[in-house]
Amino acid sequence: MTTETGHALTRIAPTPSGFLHAGNLLNFLLIQRLASEHSADIALRIDDMDAFRLRPEYVADIFRCLQWLGICWSIGPQSMAEYELLPSPEERADHYYDALTDMIGAGLPAFVCRCSRRDLGRDARCEKGCADKRLPFVPRKTLVRVRIPAGADPEVVAMGDTPLWRREDLPAYQLTSIIDDHELGVTHIVRGEDLRPSTELQLWLARFLPDSPFLRAEIRHHHLVTDDAGQKLSKSQGTGMLELTPALRERLEQLVESAVWS
Ligand SMILES: [Zn+2]
Repeated sequence: MTTETGHALTRIAPTPSGFLHAGNLLNFLLIQRLASEHSADIALRIDDMDAFRLRPEYVADIFRCLQWLGICWSIGPQSMAEYELLPSPEERADHYYDALTDMIGAGLPAFVCRCSRRDLGRDARCEKGCADKRLPFVPRKTLVRVRIPAGADPEVVAMGDTPLWRREDLPAYQLTSIIDDHELGVTHIVRGEDLRPSTELQLWLARFLPDSPFLRAEIRHHHLVTDDAGQKLSKSQGTGMLELTPALRERLEQLVESAVWS
């Protein structure tokens, strides 16, 4: 499929919450391959709303790795200097707040919740009745969750009452990711299979956006790169910057060739 302007569009959307690992690089290469198969444009979107873990060296690492991989993109910042000119997460928060308000107006079952993650009960759901109390939204003090109806996809229901707005007065990942993909008009998405439940949740959320292209996007999930012990790699476990060696390039090329989609 293509956007209204006839262009296929995919995106590279790393979160700068740590130095990238081999699995992130595999994801970028698979996006590049899908883009070339569909003559799609590539957008670089740095998912930096989690401002508490954001560090400039993590953003710089994204540019370093993309450059080393030889990936080109036509939308989004081309360098650290261009990234620094973009509006900050705090400056963009109002836009997501308006989008969330519109989605609630369209019937999204969101509610203000006083519970932290620790307070949640079985199945990560609020059991203190916050949804029934219709608590008011108080800026800087309020967390907003979405309650997925029991009849929805079991994978989505299992995610519990997912936050859409954080107590720190910033939008949560699930909200920014779906709004950004919706507004960008992304037609092709490649994600690691660990994000499959997240994709299902976002497909559910997209029903409350006006005629969202996200609902028609081709979304693929790939198997993850694991460490020697068979554990999935994680940015937060990373010990430092990935060494970009010829051996790594060879390994990545093999992984791209043998990529398994799920
Ligand atoms: Zn609650």
